Amino acid sequence: MARPITATIHTDALRHNLQAVRARADGRRLMAMVKADGYGHGLETAALALAGADAFGVAAIEDAARIRAAGLRQPVLVLSGFDSADDLDQLRALGAEAIVHHAAQLELLEQTDGPPIRVWLKIDTGMHRLGFPPGQVREAYARLRAARGVTGEIVLMTHFASSDEFDAHSRNGAQTPAQLRAFAAATEGLEGPRSLANSAAVLGWPDSHGDWIRPGGALYGMSVVAGRTGAAFGLRPAMTFETRLLAVNRVAKGERIGYSATWEAPEDMPVGVAAVGYGDGYPRLAPAGTPVLVNGRPAAIAGRVSMDLMTIDLRGQSAARAGDPVVLWGEALPVETVAEAAGTISYALTCGITRRVRFVNA
Ligand SMILES: *Cc1c(COP(=O)(O)O)cnc(C)c1O
Repeated sequence: MARPITATIHTDALRHNLQAVRARADGRRLMAMVKADGYGHGLETAALALAGADAFGVAAIEDAARIRAAGLRQPVLVLSGFDSADDLDQLRALGAEAIVHHAAQLELLEQTDGPPIRVWLKIDTGMHRLGFPPGQVREAYARLRAARGVTGEIVLMTHFASSDEFDAHSRNGAQTPAQLRAFAAATEGLEGPRSLANSAAVLGWPDSHGDWIRPGGALYGMSVVAGRTGAAFGLRPAMTFETRLLAVNRVAKGERIGYSATWEAPEDMPVGVAAVGYGDGYPRLAPAGTPVLVNGRPAAIAGRVSMDLMTIDLRGQSAARAGDPVVLWGEALPVETVAEAAGTISYALTCGITRRVRFVNA
């Protein structure tokens, strides 16, 4: 039999979320982040549904090529930039823009003799991942302005480490105002649009909106704020991950279920076996008790998640039968809830769905 597992992508929810996010940062330009295959939703599906965005952000040049092949003509920003003359040629051919975050990239732009490209200058204001430290920004900016490989205005950008913590008086919450101050000081007097805000900053830090916002997760209906779901911000989940029951078995009190026999039936009871496992991207670390919906009604994982299968406590669902639908996450069961149970974040779950899952657009 074919595996009955599907990831349904709700393109209407993507469009709704785009408008909802825009409304939170009125008048700013919006770059839709579609890296990691559109946060696991499918790059082309996501980008076409989000075609109302002013630009797209991707992790790699190959993704920029896919955006162009899909017929989209907006600016595309390659977050990792380039590290060779060949990369620069590819960016030119695609009409793509690049982040410049490292001195070696300045040299390539100074030495190139092909047509110039547009660039975004990345400043490390405290995350300590990619970017020029504040003390090197003026020199990098001046070199970009003079480089023959650069055209147009230079966008000044940074990325927040803790913008999901909205309380400015908490330890992590104080980091966003500190990054805002560092950014303002490093860029004071430099011409060019500003771009700082990821989804959480769009939702919680209006002072950070600048000229370009760069939401990702919020467009897919996900919240990055601990303890809150996307719905709390008026967002709609863009993915339903679902499968079916392969069997419903009667298990006697005291019987133990699954690998390593970690779960013991507290009474005589029905146990459902669903066609989903970590081979599909469902998190193996989701413990017993993690919610699922069987026929739209709450049930819970029993025992360990295995590669192809999951066992489900069906007490209170005596009518459940093989073939019945099982929702792993979606509108009625937020992916954030499952992620929290599994000790991870919603992004990691949607990005982790594997190739054997059938994707359907709705
Ligand atoms: C991924 C990413 C974003 C979007 O972050 P979300 O939390 O998904 O909104 C914005 N900017 C950069 C540089 C990123 O890498």
